[in-house]
Amino acid sequence: MLVVALGVYALSTVPGLRSHAGYSVGWDGWLQNSVLMAAAAVVGLRACIVRDKRLDWACIAVGLGLYAVGNIIYFAYVQYQASPPAPSAADVPWLVCYPFLYVGVIRLARQPGARIDRLLRIDSVISALGLSAIAMIWFEVMLRGTSGSLATVLTTMAYPVGDLLLMLIVVGCLAVHRWRVDRVWAWLGAGLGLFAAADTIYAIRVATDSYRAGTLLDPMWAVAATMMAIAAWKSQGRSGSSRENGWAVLYVPTLITVTALALLVLAGHGPGSLPVRILAAATVLAGLVRAAFTFQTMVTLVGNGVEARTDELSGLRNRRAFLEAVERRIAAGHGLFAIVLIDLDRFKEVNDSLGHIAGDDLLREVGVRLKARMRQGDVLARLGGDEFAILLENTQAEAAREIAERLRLDLQQAFVKDGMTIYSDASCGVAVWPEAADDVGGLLQRADIAMYDAKRERSGTAIYTHGEDTDLSAPLRFVDELRTALLDDQLVLHYQPKIGLRTAKLEGVEALVRWKHPVRGLLPPDSFLPLAERYGLMRQLTTRVLTLALDQVSEWHRAGMDTSVAVNISVSNLLDLELPEQVRTLLEVRDLSPSCLILEVTETTLMADPTRATELLTRLQAIGVRVSIDDYGTGYSSLARLRELPVNELKLDRSFLLGISRDPRAGAIVRSTVELAHSLGLTLVAEGIETQRDEEILRELACDLGQGFHLARPLPADELLAWATQRGATAPRAEATPLP
Ligand code: C2E
Ligand code: MG
Ligand code: MG
Repeated sequence: MLVVALGVYALSTVPGLRSHAGYSVGWDGWLQNSVLMAAAAVVGLRACIVRDKRLDWACIAVGLGLYAVGNIIYFAYVQYQASPPAPSAADVPWLVCYPFLYVGVIRLARQPGARIDRLLRIDSVISALGLSAIAMIWFEVMLRGTSGSLATVLTTMAYPVGDLLLMLIVVGCLAVHRWRVDRVWAWLGAGLGLFAAADTIYAIRVATDSYRAGTLLDPMWAVAATMMAIAAWKSQGRSGSSRENGWAVLYVPTLITVTALALLVLAGHGPGSLPVRILAAATVLAGLVRAAFTFQTMVTLVGNGVEARTDELSGLRNRRAFLEAVERRIAAGHGLFAIVLIDLDRFKEVNDSLGHIAGDDLLREVGVRLKARMRQGDVLARLGGDEFAILLENTQAEAAREIAERLRLDLQQAFVKDGMTIYSDASCGVAVWPEAADDVGGLLQRADIAMYDAKRERSGTAIYTHGEDTDLSAPLRFVDELRTALLDDQLVLHYQPKIGLRTAKLEGVEALVRWKHPVRGLLPPDSFLPLAERYGLMRQLTTRVLTLALDQVSEWHRAGMDTSVAVNISVSNLLDLELPEQVRTLLEVRDLSPSCLILEVTETTLMADPTRATELLTRLQAIGVRVSIDDYGTGYSSLARLRELPVNELKLDRSFLLGISRDPRAGAIVRSTVELAHSLGLTLVAEGIETQRDEEILRELACDLGQGFHLARPLPADELLAWATQRGATAPRAEATPLP
């Protein structure tokens, strides 16, 4: 309807079709204003109905609406007052409409996360300078043609200035979009352009006293408003959004520069004033700078292979470039080389607890450190995530291991970022060509197997050797085996006592899971827990551990040993809002008091999603289960945070005990942690007590409980009972109720 009404109105202005020339109340008054109002309403409707970019379009709708209001006021003047004064009340909404259009357009153009590179900045400068030069000429022409009071001159000049700004903003926005024009921007840009053009023609006509109402110029604003209404309802096209609009990126700024050059030449011969010349000269200069940068970019692009082979984050080669380099190296044939795969340990924890920005910074820094060690001919790449790869030229397996170890040492150095210290480590896998495999895929896969071995065995670096593990799908097979293990009762728990340092009494035990692997023997938790977490088996595993632990506690109770058990839970458990209910049921069916169970959560796990964790821990505490923060001191939780968290116990990480007997500062840290814990009403447990001396010092420091190899190793359930009985930690047998 809008378009039809517009068509009818536009037709009415075709010369010869109206009954009389000049202003017509019906056509230029009623119909034109209805079209303008309707266009604003159509845009407004879009803002109301569609949520996406609502505010952006609302601004534009208000802008258009104000413009229409101005027109209506003007119409009223013409109706009742023959000739409207200058400036008139209509100028108010007309001028106020600009800021709304600006804000709307700028908001629409925003691209969160978009990278603004050097070239783009220069292009914006060129566009701004070039357009200003052109605008300046026009401005001067306008100024010469305007006469009257200061107010008249100011209002008359406000329109060209407002329009110029509008055009600058549209061009700037297109530059930010790298001259990629989708359907929305095509309609919107054209509409705004037409709007500015109509204003300009109108202003010139008025200045030269040649404006006549009811000509083809009059519908131009309505056409412009309708185009914006159409833009509002076009969906933001995806077409071409992933590809650069190559020619436009190159030609638009060039075109502007050439125009400026022409201006400069013309200005030399006649019209242009000094400001025009300065602006034109500056545009040409910026154009030259741009040409230099373009050239430089071309050179690097050609030199390093195309952009598609660079990892954006680290600036290193990416996977594709690495594969190509290895392929080329294999094709060259002579001499051997090694591939080292480097995978950061616990990178996920950094990401989870410190955020992705810190994670990215760490990855970049890792890239820098690795690069510093590269020799002539070596190829370094980031394959993705926290995985890096190196091609070591002319390197045997053992030499490669040495290099990898040196790289690991570099990575172990603390990373300091914004006053925060991050410790990192890596596991490396080495595969040597042609022994390990003779194609790229095989080499990478085997380096991956070796790396995986290194991770599992915590050996730092491992070299791939044939026979030891020729199965390429080992990790996945392992996960499959773990699934079976969960069903087949292959998981067993060992229990490590927590002992009162002052009382020397058994205060509880911690359940530590092990996997009785049918082939590999008893596996430690570190070798399979990360896989369980990654492949979504953690909930199942925790349920199994909780069941085993609580069964065991009931059995010990029956045997006269009254003890509580601590169970470790992981990130995915903390996200599982059903956990409290599950724990409650498990306790209830065994008729156990909730005080028999402590859940241990590591500090880094807690910080992954503190809000959610707090909610879950609060619910656990509500049923009476105690909560302990494990490995305390290795994460980054602030003291303030600690006070808010619903916890009962802190377990000081064993790294704090290193050197405690020699270094008084280590002692001071433990002492203050004890004080902190006590002032918050928490029990403090020291982990990893390995010597008599450690135990004594901790007792002096008033630490409550201790756990460690010196006190007792993790033991199978029956051995633990024997150990406790021997220490007299169990009640006399007679007290146990005899079975009927
Ligand atoms: P954690 O909860 O901090 O458990 C303490 C770890 O330190 C245990 O290793 C224990 O054997 C070891 N340890 C105890 N005393 C000493 C000592 O004096 N010196 C040294 N060097 N180490 C000592 P483990 O059993 O290998 O467990 C490692 C980690 O695996 C545990 O750390 C815990 O985070 C996790 N884990 C164990 N069982 C489970 C489980 O059932 N579920 C979950 N989610 N995690 C578990
Ligand atoms: Mg623990
Ligand atoms: Mg611990």
